[in-house]
Amino acid sequence: MNNGYQLLIDNELCSAASGKTFESIDPSSGEPFATVADGGAEDAQRAIAAARRAFDGGPWARMSGKERAEQLLGVADLVKKHAGELAELESKDAGHTLRVATNADVGMVVSTFRVFADLASRLEEEELLAESQGARNILRREPMGVCAAITPWNFPMQMAAWKIAPAIAAGNAVVIKPSPFAPLTTLEIGRLCVEAGIPAGVVNVLPGSGVSAGEELVSSPLVDKVAFTGSTETGRRIMQMASSNIKKCTLELGGKSASIVLDGADLDYAVDGALWSVFFHDGQVCSAGTRLLLQQSIHDEFVAELVKRADDLLIGPASDPATDLGPLISRPQLETVERYVAIGRADGADLLIGGERAIVEGHEGGYYYRPTIFGGVTSSMRIAQEEIFGPVLAVIPFADEDEAIRVANDSVYGLAGAVWSGNEDRALEVARRMRTGTVWINDHHMINPRFPFGGYKQSGLGREHGEIGFNEFREIKHIHLDRGGQTRARHPWWDLTVPKRA
Ligand code: NAD
Repeated sequence: MNNGYQLLIDNELCSAASGKTFESIDPSSGEPFATVADGGAEDAQRAIAAARRAFDGGPWARMSGKERAEQLLGVADLVKKHAGELAELESKDAGHTLRVATNADVGMVVSTFRVFADLASRLEEEELLAESQGARNILRREPMGVCAAITPWNFPMQMAAWKIAPAIAAGNAVVIKPSPFAPLTTLEIGRLCVEAGIPAGVVNVLPGSGVSAGEELVSSPLVDKVAFTGSTETGRRIMQMASSNIKKCTLELGGKSASIVLDGADLDYAVDGALWSVFFHDGQVCSAGTRLLLQQSIHDEFVAELVKRADDLLIGPASDPATDLGPLISRPQLETVERYVAIGRADGADLLIGGERAIVEGHEGGYYYRPTIFGGVTSSMRIAQEEIFGPVLAVIPFADEDEAIRVANDSVYGLAGAVWSGNEDRALEVARRMRTGTVWINDHHMINPRFPFGGYKQSGLGREHGEIGFNEFREIKHIHLDRGGQTRARHPWWDLTVPKRA
């Protein structure tokens, strides 16, 4: 058991004010393997105060974008240097297969810090707008202040980078609260920021087992912005709390993404694509393609092959390089999946494969579930409408594009979607009509820190990544510079003393 994980406040590792700790559990075995300081409201206040001092009086917000970029590149290099340890920790703490942790997670963290370093060094803080009636107009972008970042358990290390990198690249100070189910790699990223020379108080990490630390962050009048990723239900509560001082909010919330397979698609490729879209990280992915919409003419052949290949997926501990599907994050998540499978059955969907826990020899306490596919699903069923966040696929047949789009858009969510087709123009036409923040054509899950990602409808507010995501962490200021009383000369209503003088 590692007893060493502490809070990171003002560049110091410290215990929680309460002295309490909580256990982090390895989902592959169900066994606790580390204890973590249990941050609460008082710790949140300490972290906010440190961030406030760093922002209001420290050097970070006053440095140029280029200077900050150098430091972000330093963090990226350190993450690369420690790639192996970080991947192992993510695998143990969050149940990521080593394959995903090594190839996807660490790579994404490195590229996120590099992309925002690039944006910070390239994007000017000030730009000249059009001159108007003799006045110069300047658009200025400034950091917002203290940002609270709250992240989920499904991709903790990536989410830490998605929040910390743009926030600090823009000159803000940040307090990040990871999920209690997988807090460790966020602490490690914070520690690497300190090692890279980021000044005290700019990055603070605040794990906690309950909601008190998060609620303090979101409701504190000393916090200027909230960047939240998590469920739509929690997002709603965050928005309410953030309204106390009209904090700026970005919300990255749930999804129920549709993958539409049109006739004429390369079936062999699209079957693998459908498996990858829904079973990647056991379906615990906001953009998971959990609704598979198949054109009727290809439906039966496609489903038969899909079920066959799903049956071949290897379920095992996250640390085994051969594992295709690792464990779910926790026992409650396993129970949620079981509940939804029971709902699907009760609603009359056909269970084609799966529908039960998997027992992995030597890891009997782990949270494993078999890949599960339901056929005969209609759009109104709960398994087609609600986010399950597990390895459960709902297959829905459709006759033509109009019906596919109607079903795809029949959702309160609008995060992502995919179209599989051999005809680019046809696929693009369908993509344009889907009401989601991202559409992949003949692909899935290709999130890139250079391009915006976020949701329509109840999948969120604002965007992460790219210049658009960077600007979510910058305030906009317009400076009007009058030259020689020109506006006064042009507007008789400007000068209150004119009638008296006349
Ligand atoms: P969650 O909403 O339960 O928790 C998210 C975070 O919010 C955690 O850190 C949690 O401790 C914290 N939290 C919970 N209640 C809070 C409160 N009252 N005040 C402040 N903080 C609070 O989500 P989860 O189960 O950790 O993650 C899964 C969800 O995240 C899914 O819905 C998934 O779709 C979503 N997600 C979205 C994206 C995206 O980019 N849109 C990415 C990843 C995950």
